[in-house]
Amino acid sequence: MTASDKEITDNLAEIKATIPPHVTLVAVSKTHPSEAIEVAYRAGHRVFGENKVQEMEVKATILAKDIQWHLIGHLQSNKVKYIAPFVTLIHAVDSEKLLEEIQKRAAANNRVIDVLLQVHIAAEETKFGFDAAELNEFLASKRWNNLPNVRLRGLMGMATFTNEDSQVRSEFRGLKSIFDASKILLNNDFDTLSMGMSGDYQIAIEEGSTMVRIGSSIFGAREYR
Ligand SMILES: *Cc1c(COP(=O)(O)O)cnc(C)c1O
Repeated sequence: MTASDKEITDNLAEIKATIPPHVTLVAVSKTHPSEAIEVAYRAGHRVFGENKVQEMEVKATILAKDIQWHLIGHLQSNKVKYIAPFVTLIHAVDSEKLLEEIQKRAAANNRVIDVLLQVHIAAEETKFGFDAAELNEFLASKRWNNLPNVRLRGLMGMATFTNEDSQVRSEFRGLKSIFDASKILLNNDFDTLSMGMSGDYQIAIEEGSTMVRIGSSIFGAREYR
């Protein structure tokens, strides 16, 4: 259930107090109503994350225009066109094909779109995310130079869903080292490491995260229908 207005305001203040100034807080509002976002907005928050294109589009239409919308979930190429006019950052870019589509739609909107490349760091099987070798090959190839309307801002990853803090920590540490190695192949724009969610963001920050994506600890538990 979505938290009460007071809970949202208090949760947000508490989390902000524990996050150092160099770390950006993405308030993950997926599944929660626009009213919940407005509560956080009135408390001064502007950066929100959604994982579904259509839900983000609807909320962006209704809500204040100075909100920075981050798409944090898997993005299908055929849906890029819907968010290209307004999205601030796309977190989970996991293929060159998707980058090419973002390039095309960004150019059509006369924009440069910021993206993060998703790296697969968890032990769980998933088809999403570059592995370290693929990422290195792509960055070293400089093929990204052919994408003038896409700005590579950094990397994003998700740790294994486990209570084993030591495993989560070592996965985040691994991603940080991939990030540091990648930086050498890029430029000064490559400055963002998106890692850490409600359950593990403190560990992520200790391991070098510059952007945390926090949902349930702000807005309450999600109900999926
Ligand atoms: C839902 C989601 C989050 C937020 O998860 P919480 O555990 O609720 O903080 C963060 N990142 C991604 C990619 C998500 O899909």
